[in-house]
Amino acid sequence: MELNLVMLGPPGAGKGTQARQLRRKWNIPHISTGAMLREAVQAGTPLGRAVAVIMESGDLISDDMITRVVADRLSQSDTSTGFLLDGYPRTIPQAESLDRLIAGRAPLIIVDIVLSEAEVVRRLASRMVCAECGANAVGEGPACHDCGGALVPRADDREQVVLNRLKVYREQTEPLISYYGGRPTYCRIDGARLPDDVTTDIIAAVEHHT
Ligand code: AMP
Repeated sequence: MELNLVMLGPPGAGKGTQARQLRRKWNIPHISTGAMLREAVQAGTPLGRAVAVIMESGDLISDDMITRVVADRLSQSDTSTGFLLDGYPRTIPQAESLDRLIAGRAPLIIVDIVLSEAEVVRRLASRMVCAECGANAVGEGPACHDCGGALVPRADDREQVVLNRLKVYREQTEPLISYYGGRPTYCRIDGARLPDDVTTDIIAAVEHHT
């Protein structure tokens, strides 16, 4: 069986945190475009050098560039049992490209995590991530619960950048709710609850569609 999931929702809604739980449950690769781009920036690859400044401002990199990255990743054999896309698509042209890329494969299940803007700003102001593996910090403590790495604020969680990322979300990504909303596999999930409760809801919604 193939399980092809897309996580939607504003920055800070918990897409990454949920994707990490779900990847363990279903044993499918978690494909985070933000994490792939941050790795490219750190490694100083041509892609990383091309996108670093854009990412720091909270704007989106071009549809063509990110779609090439995703097409390449989805062509790898570990996606034959499915994938969990986190951070892509973020625009209507990207969603159209994704539909073309997976034509003939199992239908997409869209998990839309809903969270108010006030809650997004509150969460991102205090978010810490692991400098080593990129995981979001969970609970108290100075070190990453996954790998023991040091916790640091994310570079694009500064207030001005957060406000821009929210504007970008509203203008470019929110229209995806209409794009996907009419599909029987579109699932709307309340993200303003404890992470474990959100995970339980997502599992129930996805299993309903498989
Ligand atoms: P994220 O970790 O998903 O919030 O992504 C961090 C940053 O990477 C975004 O603010 C964008 O600059 C860039 N990025 C990630 N995914 C995409 C995408 N699908 N399209 C365009 N830019 C992206």
